[in-house]
Amino acid sequence: MDVSRCTTDVFIIGGGPAGLAVSIAARQKGFQVIVADGIAPPIQKPCGEGMLPETLAALRGLGVEIDPADGARLRGICFMQKDARVWSDFPGDLGVGLRRTVLHERLVARAQETGVQLLWRTPISGIDGNSVRLTHGKVHAHWIVGADGQGSRVRHWSGIETKTVKQRHAIRRHYRVKPWSSYVEVHWGTRAQAYVTPVGGEEVCIVTLSATPEDASFDKALCEFPDLRENLSGAQLNSPERGAVTCMRTLCNVQRRNLALVGDASGGVDAITGDGIRLALRQASALVDAMAAGDLEQYEQEHHRLAKGATRMGNLMLWLDRNPRLRRRVIRAWESKPDLLSRMLAMHMGHGTPEDLFSTGARLGWRLLTT
Ligand SMILES: Cc1cc2nc3c(=O)[nH]c(=O)nc-3n(C[C@H](O)[C@H](O)[C@H](O)COP(=O)(O)OP(=O)(O)OC[C@H]3O[C@@H](n4cnc5c(N)ncnc54)[C@H](O)[C@@H]3O)c2cc1C
Repeated sequence: MDVSRCTTDVFIIGGGPAGLAVSIAARQKGFQVIVADGIAPPIQKPCGEGMLPETLAALRGLGVEIDPADGARLRGICFMQKDARVWSDFPGDLGVGLRRTVLHERLVARAQETGVQLLWRTPISGIDGNSVRLTHGKVHAHWIVGADGQGSRVRHWSGIETKTVKQRHAIRRHYRVKPWSSYVEVHWGTRAQAYVTPVGGEEVCIVTLSATPEDASFDKALCEFPDLRENLSGAQLNSPERGAVTCMRTLCNVQRRNLALVGDASGGVDAITGDGIRLALRQASALVDAMAAGDLEQYEQEHHRLAKGATRMGNLMLWLDRNPRLRRRVIRAWESKPDLLSRMLAMHMGHGTPEDLFSTGARLGWRLLTT
């Protein structure tokens, strides 16, 4: 179909989880929607592939059912370091570890079902006011959405500035091996972190994270985690290794006139929070509500509110990463009072009140002083 001279209600640049979620939610509200992505599905992206229970609930709201049999059930999170280990179940439902390509296929299928016009292998080269520039021609849109990921060019074109950014280096691998745990394992070492997500009956996804490019070698990172190395001994590599940068990024704004940014384009949280996709899905729904109300400032306020909890958890994780002695004490405090970790996890997932946050923080502080 020739779209080069058409008009639409919503034009979305980027067909990753954020862009597709906006497209489905916008179709559910009756908007006419086009999504363009420079590549074709199923789109692969280095990711820890952990879907929190709230991520699954948000997908359900879009009409995307994830069958745990497509991946692996996740009970909760386990933090581990040389001399300590502590775990907590997710509050309420289970999570799912799921290959990123499977998630993408499901979102694409749902977008097609709802009547989104999908343009694959269609890189966008610019925007002029209400128009989006394709290789051949332009499309006129009432709303333009930048869902083009962390290195967003839409953010650059629209002149929206980054306020803060902290980045780390990540490597992702899949191994063919029976998962040895139904928890997402976060292993903490001196120079690197590794987190393990079961993503199938016979497969695990592993991401290593480090602050500097020098430490960002998977094999070097693995040397810090003998238990993990032991579990992987003899296991076959099941995908090509892929590297990425993960960022804590905040922006001055996430909208301007008729344009809004969503997902990683609109800022992001460090991969260790396992929260990027949940955040993108919730932003998508807030953005479509704001478009329906004709007021993108409403989206900006909600975006700010949604980012708060995830940013708090991301900063805590980075702070623990930088301070090994304190981290040891925090993990010991969690070990001796496991409900502290459970409550923090529950708050990370949006359960609980500011008072809970205060009392949990105060109890953790007291344990740190007395442990
Ligand atoms: C190492 C790592 C581990 C992670 N682990 C987890 C996890 O366990 N759980 C979790 O929830 N989140 C995790 N995340 C975060 C999650 O991957 C991101 O938050 C999520 O991918 C954001 O989706 P998005 O659609 O905003 O961006 P993307 O997935 O990056 O999609 C952007 C799309 O835009 C397209 N595009 C870019 N420029 C253009 C253009 N000019 N024209 C057309 N198309 C364009 C790209 O081709 C791409 O398909 C992790 C991230 C990293 C880096």
